[in-house]
Amino acid sequence: MNSAPTIRTAEILCVGTELLMGQVINSNANFLASELVSLGISSYRQIVIGDNLQRLREQIVTSASRADLVVLTGGLGPTSDDITMEAAAEAAGKKLELHNESYDNIKHYYQRICRNMPQSNKKQAMLPSDATALINKNGTAPGAMFLCNAPNLDDPEHMAYLILLPGPPSEMRPMFMDQVRPFLEKHNSARFRTEFIRLYGIGESAAEERVKDLIDSQTNPTIAPYASEGECLFRITQRIESEDEEDRIRPLVEIFKDRFGDYIYEVGQRSLKEVVFDLLFEKGMTLSFAESCTAGMASSEFVDVPGSSKVLMGSIVAYDNRIKEQLLGVTKEVLVDMGSVSRECAEQMAVGCRDLLKTDMAVSITGIAGPTAYGTNKPVGLVYLALADKDGTDVSEINLSGNRMRVRRVSVLHAFNMIRKRLQ
Ligand code: ATP
Repeated sequence: MNSAPTIRTAEILCVGTELLMGQVINSNANFLASELVSLGISSYRQIVIGDNLQRLREQIVTSASRADLVVLTGGLGPTSDDITMEAAAEAAGKKLELHNESYDNIKHYYQRICRNMPQSNKKQAMLPSDATALINKNGTAPGAMFLCNAPNLDDPEHMAYLILLPGPPSEMRPMFMDQVRPFLEKHNSARFRTEFIRLYGIGESAAEERVKDLIDSQTNPTIAPYASEGECLFRITQRIESEDEEDRIRPLVEIFKDRFGDYIYEVGQRSLKEVVFDLLFEKGMTLSFAESCTAGMASSEFVDVPGSSKVLMGSIVAYDNRIKEQLLGVTKEVLVDMGSVSRECAEQMAVGCRDLLKTDMAVSITGIAGPTAYGTNKPVGLVYLALADKDGTDVSEINLSGNRMRVRRVSVLHAFNMIRKRLQ
């Protein structure tokens, strides 16, 4: 996809009979249209089309012959009425082949949510052989980008990019932001300056509310909010004519800092765990985790950061009460009277872990990941975290919604955020 024609014009094609029948509001078109505007790509048409192979194929051929880019959403699912990939491949004269990496990702997705993968999902990993696969971190259907020969009367050599994205906005938006937008920024004639403001601890709608006036009055720079699991992110993009053009992003960043204060953990590219690593590393501090419901996930996430061995000394997965008691020194009284998911237990786990592993800081996580709360009347999603260092121990209680995986993932983010707040 690198010997790329420049992208100046686009059409948006939203696929799904439920859209035609008015059962779903076409928010994907709305999102994509504003993204294309901010990229300086003229979008000439938005078309909604049902799940019919022939009509969809014809529409793709027509749109591709008129525009440099056709963005499609929906119809990438595993069932027989999900026909977007097939129609797009036919329109481009390409054959579908099993894309092994995407197939592995789908299998891993099902492993993560502790379910067996239905055989029908294999269909979702069938892509044109020369397509760039787009990873779906929030669902099963990979997206795809490929070039399509689409001659027209003015240009018999005309080529268009087809970009296929899943229908659910929660899958489509992050895929667009993380993988498609950077591609489009490179392959169109406009130039951009971009900054990211990353927040933790505030929900997407509350965050948007605080800067609604700025978002509503945006022209250049533009402000785009988007949320991923437990986190919230704003992208500010200034369209520029030349590199020495006045920086209009900095003043906006200052306004964001005023309005969000401590919620902001990074202005830039670093993830929360990278910020935490840098803070600990700069202060020469060591860390350990005592993990119950996350069972090693915090440690595993943390060691994604290169150099983490200089900071993370080790961790204890204390899943069973016996381990909490024997290794971490949680008292029988606490386990019996308060339970293993309690403020007191979290505190003793963190203190015990710090003593045992001799680290400057230890963080514990104990909670009920669900889907059932065996042997307790405490709610699923209740999690206690404690941070122990030389200044004492802080305990935090959170109540999370969502499935087992989400509860564990967000608990890990919360643990990282506790460290950040203690050190920043
Ligand atoms: P999946 O990843 O679930 O297999 P898919 O790519 O097959 O997704 P569809 O089956 O077409 O997507 O749509 C799934 C759901 O996504 C719809 O029921 C609807 O809730 C949402 N959706 C699809 N298209 C749009 C759209 N244009 N705007 C908003 N929501 C949409």
